[in-house]
Amino acid sequence: MEYFLEVVLPIPLEKLFTYSITQQEAGFIQPGMRVAVPFGKSKIYTALAYRVHQNAPTAYEAKEIYQILDDAPLLGPFQLQHWEWLAKYYMCTLGEVVSSVLPSAFLLESETLILPNKETSVDEMELSDDEFLVYEALRHQSALKVQEISDIVDKKNVLSLVNRLVQKGVVRQKEELYEQYKPKLVRYVKLSEKYDDDRQLEELLNELSRARKQSQVVLSLFQLRSGNNKPIPITELEKHSGSSKAVIKTLIDKDILKEYQIRQDRVEYNEESEEARNIALNEHQSKALEDINNSFAENKPVLLHGVTSSGKTEVYVKLIQQCLDGGRQSLYLLPEIALTSQLINRLRDYFGHKVSVYHSKYSIHERVEVWNNVLKNAEKAQIVIGARSSLFLPFSNLGLIVVDEEHENSFKQFDPAPRYHARDAAIVLASLHKAHTVLGSATPSIESMYNARKGKYGYASIDQRYGNVLMPDINLVDIKEATRKKRMKGHFSETLINAISETLEAGEQVILFQNRRGFAPVVECTTCGHVAQCPNCDVSLTYHQRINQLRCHYCGYHMALQQACLACGSPTLDKKGFGTEQIQEELGQLFPDVATGRMDLDTTRGKYAYEKIISAFENQEMDILVGTQMVTKGLDFRNVSLVGIMNADTMLNFPDYRAHERSFQMLTQVAGRAGRTQKRGKVLIQSYNPYHQILQQVTTNDYDKMFAEQLYEREQFKYPPLVRIIKITLKDRDFNKLNEAAQWLAESLRNVLGHQILGPEYPPVGRIRRDYLKNILIKIPKNQSLAQTKNSIKRIEKSFNAISKYKSVRLVYNVDHI
Ligand code: ADP
Ligand code: ZN
Ligand code: ZN
Repeated sequence: MEYFLEVVLPIPLEKLFTYSITQQEAGFIQPGMRVAVPFGKSKIYTALAYRVHQNAPTAYEAKEIYQILDDAPLLGPFQLQHWEWLAKYYMCTLGEVVSSVLPSAFLLESETLILPNKETSVDEMELSDDEFLVYEALRHQSALKVQEISDIVDKKNVLSLVNRLVQKGVVRQKEELYEQYKPKLVRYVKLSEKYDDDRQLEELLNELSRARKQSQVVLSLFQLRSGNNKPIPITELEKHSGSSKAVIKTLIDKDILKEYQIRQDRVEYNEESEEARNIALNEHQSKALEDINNSFAENKPVLLHGVTSSGKTEVYVKLIQQCLDGGRQSLYLLPEIALTSQLINRLRDYFGHKVSVYHSKYSIHERVEVWNNVLKNAEKAQIVIGARSSLFLPFSNLGLIVVDEEHENSFKQFDPAPRYHARDAAIVLASLHKAHTVLGSATPSIESMYNARKGKYGYASIDQRYGNVLMPDINLVDIKEATRKKRMKGHFSETLINAISETLEAGEQVILFQNRRGFAPVVECTTCGHVAQCPNCDVSLTYHQRINQLRCHYCGYHMALQQACLACGSPTLDKKGFGTEQIQEELGQLFPDVATGRMDLDTTRGKYAYEKIISAFENQEMDILVGTQMVTKGLDFRNVSLVGIMNADTMLNFPDYRAHERSFQMLTQVAGRAGRTQKRGKVLIQSYNPYHQILQQVTTNDYDKMFAEQLYEREQFKYPPLVRIIKITLKDRDFNKLNEAAQWLAESLRNVLGHQILGPEYPPVGRIRRDYLKNILIKIPKNQSLAQTKNSIKRIEKSFNAISKYKSVRLVYNVDHI
């Protein structure tokens, strides 16, 4: 009898690949375990076991697997099913899903770079011969490929060896992160075990009576130990006993004290607080909770529409508590950018150490730690807060998913595949687990509200701020008029300047919103009109004053700002437009003595940079915070009473069918940062076009009117949620070939699918990283089968791929493109 194993390789293959295994292996392997397999001429990959069967592949001879890498599956019960749904729905391969969602530490392969781990001290005696060889080699070389390690130990398959070394902390994997993982080792001391015996202890104390300092240390240890069994850090003993490290070391050397280390969990936590746990919901929150539970009973996802500062978080907390009481895991999803320590701390106040955090700024090792805790269903991973990638953790018993700020675009993954929407993928995951989903927002997406109105989702709302705090008072400032009357200083209207002065005088803080980072978007020559362009992409370079550079926001290309125009040589360069940096600079001139801060992508690169700015502002180390849309994300600042929006027009005029919806959301969210305490907050929106309907709807907080108007337009022009959209992007280095290929593809699609094909069209940025781009948009009416349409598209792709001259052209699918 022959046995075979179908595996998922972490590469974009259309089909699963089959290997041969022994009967014994067949009895052991379960789906979701990892196996090391050969692939191609000489590569070794880590693959995921998918299915054991007895049918030999017909097209090729099955090779043997090298090795089984796990004793038990790495995945939870529904994970493969969820990932298959993703691959199918978002038109990519299962291999692409696996390689994108599994932490790369789980997917060592022959090309992976392995580095020495300089952070830990290695006990050479504890290494096997092979392990020692690798360790030695890495003392002389800065990095080795897995393939090279294989040569060193003269064995073909070394993945499990490398896995072991990674686990022991001897080596680490190269990762592209700004901050590398450092294990946090804390040194502790305890009394040697032999003094568990009372007589021995008495003798010791007698003996030490002559060494006063040493006996002081031992007595301190007793005092620290009394009443609890907590480990005692050396530093604490040092402090408590008032003695030096040297004295403690003498005791350790004499074997009276024992030193040991505990690796502190990198995810630190607060103790849960009684006060936080006893919060009672007000009547509006209670009503919302009741409505949500009623919809849950009908197994519907629920949209919670609550104005800013209405206390949605407290409602989520009650839902999580219910879920916890039922013994099930909860997942709290946030847009990446909003993963603030504010929220994490709030949840830890309620749930203490049961909360884990997971997101992309975590190192490989930190992610593996959370992964393993979720897999074990550990106490500390009962509640996971995370960005969209935490949807792929190995939950076994998920009871609830909260999608907070559900309207946020950053829930949609843009690159690489799978290009999924976390909100939609969450609903599918929840249904696999028979769990509940709640989507929360002060400004729901048109999609979700549409689904709620249609009865597909349940609906709950809170239309008042918690604690009778009034909604902010929003006013529009006509800057066209102000400019005409010469009442502008730089980009600040007199009205805004006065409001800032008043706020500062009252000892309160200000947030200024400018939806653009950098100093000035472009530098233009006033003589010949030349604007410096990125050589790789079809965009202008942006000027960054602090580093005096021109930078491309797409590919990272940069150059120093030139003194003279690159085209005509005249020194007449003019910095046009304005970004956050320029606003901050102008502020410095208008309010020279005021401390200001800036929050945008450029100032928040490091792991804790974002948190640092937030706490500095919270602690009132600065009075004015200038920021991009980052400042809109659910932050709760107590002392902010004025929010200024520098210019609402660029957002409104953006050429995209969602521009109006997005502007409404963004402006309402920024405005929501104002006056979250008793005093009514004030918001000033500067615009050249204050009569724009969206600005009127923002000032009157009229979501319903915005929704009705936008839905009407989407009906008229056939856009989601009334149709579904698949965007196909074609990429190639050759401009003519790209055009021809795009034309061919669009025509073939039209032949099969009819007239709901738009394009091919150049995107706003027609060239990125040296590739020319062209888009085709497919609109699929609601009554047409999505699955069948995708099949048709795939068939056309096959014919397309068969045309040899289009071989270099890449196709990228984006289903439900937003
Ligand atoms: P949202 O998420 O809807 O913007 P939050 O959940 O941040 O609102 O609540 C706004 C403020 O009101 C927070 O400071 C929160 O602690 C407080 N709050 C909300 N509900 C309660 C409650 N039931 N009891 C006490 N404080 C509450
Ligand atoms: Zn570029
Ligand atoms: Zn010029």
